[in-house]
Amino acid sequence: MSAITVTGLRKSYGDHVVLDGLDLDVPQGTVFSLLGANGAGKTTTVRILSTLINADGGRARINGHDLAAEPDAVRASIGVTGQFSAVDSLFTGEENLQLMADLHHLGRWEGRNRAAELLERFDLTEAARKPASTYSGGMRRRLDLAMTLIGRPRVIFLDEPTTGLDPRSRRNMWQIVRELVADGVTIFLTTQYLDEADELADRIAVLDNGRLVAEGTADELKRRIPGGHVRLRFADEVGLDAAVGLLADAVRDNESLTLRVPNDGSMRALKTLIDRLDARAVQVEELSVHTPDLDDVFLALTGDQQKVTAR
Ligand code: ATP
Repeated sequence: MSAITVTGLRKSYGDHVVLDGLDLDVPQGTVFSLLGANGAGKTTTVRILSTLINADGGRARINGHDLAAEPDAVRASIGVTGQFSAVDSLFTGEENLQLMADLHHLGRWEGRNRAAELLERFDLTEAARKPASTYSGGMRRRLDLAMTLIGRPRVIFLDEPTTGLDPRSRRNMWQIVRELVADGVTIFLTTQYLDEADELADRIAVLDNGRLVAEGTADELKRRIPGGHVRLRFADEVGLDAAVGLLADAVRDNESLTLRVPNDGSMRALKTLIDRLDARAVQVEELSVHTPDLDDVFLALTGDQQKVTAR
């Protein structure tokens, strides 16, 4: 069963085509990650699928409801936490949750119970009576997600959920996502962090210039690109030039004084490379071995030198 199916989704702002015929299928109880550089159209996709803005063309079904024909039914079955939190800073955590419970027409007791249960689950019980303005970034995100869960959504759109969080809070958020999925919830995750997609997503799609340029599991995507490489850093351009003369298949980056040399990282291949440089007395400042990761996949598929953030 699909939780989300999208066919031919289009959206433009004036002459600017943001989504140019997007097709997606997300099975229930899985994490689907949409990757893309800044401005690729991730948030636009989330805004359309969560009924906040209309598409110019295409169709989508979410939780069995047609997006265009039954937007209220779609809205009732989804949750959205965006880059900009719905948390009201003047209210306490408990009051924010109570407000959500009222919006969902939960009765007084049910609302209170649900709020208490979520505060407990997200480790916010102690801070429940403090204004949200005093919360850390991680606490705000947890409260934001807890507010989304008041309505027991079956599909949750998480738009860059860990941007700006410290490593511990990120891992915390990842664990929460895993627990939601174990309960059968479907997660539509947009992120700029490739390690996050690698960690959480069952399937990953890469958005570039309004189109999906690849879709698959993290391993499938990694297999689609050529093998690993060695990165050599030099002290100056003289060293860089000398190495370029020796290594015909290397790609140079003048700014960082580095060379990217195709190499499978085996002892044998590394020794051959080092011997060649040694024979001409080329001085290397630093050598690092890279096996392909999602970062490489992203760069190869989008042909974009603007590297997305990988931590
Ligand atoms: P980011 O990671 O920066 O959030 P994104 O992939 O989510 O990027 P979107 O926010 O979907 O990107 O924006 C896609 C493109 O559409 C951008 O070029 C943006 O400037 C443009 N855009 C978005 N909303 C509007 C709008 N209301 N009017 C005009 N252009 C818009």
